[in-house]
Amino acid sequence: MPERKPVQHAPALPHVNLEANSFILSGGMVVDGSGAPPFRADVFVQGDRIAAIGTLDAPSDAHIIDATGLVIAPGFIDSHTHDDGYLLAHPDMTPKVSQGITTVVTGNCGISLAPLSPRDIPQPLDLLGPPALFRFDSFAGWLAALRATPAATNVIPLVGHTTLRVECMADLDRPADENEIARMRALLDDAMHAGAFGLSTGTFYPPAAHATTDEIIAVGAPLREYAGVYATHLRDEADLIVDAMEEALTIGRALNALVVFSHHKLAGEKNHGRSKETLALIEQAAARQPVCLDCHPYPATSTMLRLDRVRISRRTMITWSKGYPAATGRDFSDVMAELALDDEAALKRLAPAGAIYFLMDERDVERIITHPLAMVGSDGLPFDPHPHPRQWGTFTQVLRKLVRESQVMTLEAAIHKMTGLAARNYGIAQRGLLQAGYFADLVLLDAERVADNATFEAPIQVSTGIEQVWVNGQPVWDGKTGKSGLVPGRVLQRSTPMSAAG
Ligand SMILES: [Zn+2]
Repeated sequence: MPERKPVQHAPALPHVNLEANSFILSGGMVVDGSGAPPFRADVFVQGDRIAAIGTLDAPSDAHIIDATGLVIAPGFIDSHTHDDGYLLAHPDMTPKVSQGITTVVTGNCGISLAPLSPRDIPQPLDLLGPPALFRFDSFAGWLAALRATPAATNVIPLVGHTTLRVECMADLDRPADENEIARMRALLDDAMHAGAFGLSTGTFYPPAAHATTDEIIAVGAPLREYAGVYATHLRDEADLIVDAMEEALTIGRALNALVVFSHHKLAGEKNHGRSKETLALIEQAAARQPVCLDCHPYPATSTMLRLDRVRISRRTMITWSKGYPAATGRDFSDVMAELALDDEAALKRLAPAGAIYFLMDERDVERIITHPLAMVGSDGLPFDPHPHPRQWGTFTQVLRKLVRESQVMTLEAAIHKMTGLAARNYGIAQRGLLQAGYFADLVLLDAERVADNATFEAPIQVSTGIEQVWVNGQPVWDGKTGKSGLVPGRVLQRSTPMSAAG
């Protein structure tokens, strides 16, 4: 590996307080998150910060962790999650920290846990977990709960437009009227004031499908003042994807917001290969407005059970079913045969239910994830009894399959997508890079061994080769002993208005 010249003037370590949670990662290869080539250096952590990077002269009583043969990287940022409720229910965040993730972006696809007053929880909001989790009628209330009972990872929270619709509209099968728009806008403004990073939409899903472009722009008005993010699960990821992308870009320009194309994909065989067209569209757009995308490395996606998705998938696997729990983990076609029902009748029998859809082309997936504007986002559904393996293996699959095995990306390029690029897009200061003074969100990994173990058949598996993970200077994961039980995660705060960055 090419080596960059380490810092020559090491800090005088005897002057620092070695008792206050300080340690030195010694002798590892630093992949700093910027995309620059790896270089050999020691990393000195003191309290919640990186104190120095270089060739360090450690006193004999310093806590030294031997990183020889290992890679030291910034903690990974999962740019697309549905962990809103999981953070509170399972604060150890094992599916995430075990693959090196130290920060999760929540509230994607239009669905956030808050603000929502007590009610029956309609699909797709139930993707976030059981009804008891929905107990926050204000976004500030949910953030306060996260601060009072923190998780092992940091949080970048988004507000879901579908959640706002469910909260403010009695009838979801039409565009919102002026009063409803005003209420949704006020709730978004409250949420942004409380610390949300932006708005997400999911017009692919019934509760938001009737929202017009104008409705979204009117509700999203507070994003302008806060320079928020606009993340969108497009109305259509199949035949009409280009129209849907143009709509998202229009909304982004109207709100002066960074457009994040969520889990960018081309669904259905008919559309395979069209990533050339959609990535070209994104590149053209990037010349005039801030835009990026997130994705994972699997050729299958997952959401609620829907016939439009079943019918364009080469295979559909059931992740959960209230109507017929025995279907969980099995192929929909087998369940149909067993029940002797056609797809419509089988869906009625299983509903409500969730599924994994094998509907993408590997070449599209690879072209999209290697694109310079692409971040890595798991999009996992953490409460599914038989989840898509992306919840447990997205980041380690990228490092195993795309970096080490097929070598379509360098290690530093992949880690940049998982760290520095995401931190810049979401406007997070002092994270995402390894630099003196930055927060000590760190991953120590073995680049020769790192691997996902979660599969479609056995999806709940921790990864191999993630040796140690720290969040804000505190250990949260050890490859040998597992979770530490510490919960040093924080609700992060926006720093730089990214729409000004262009
Ligand atoms: Zn989505």
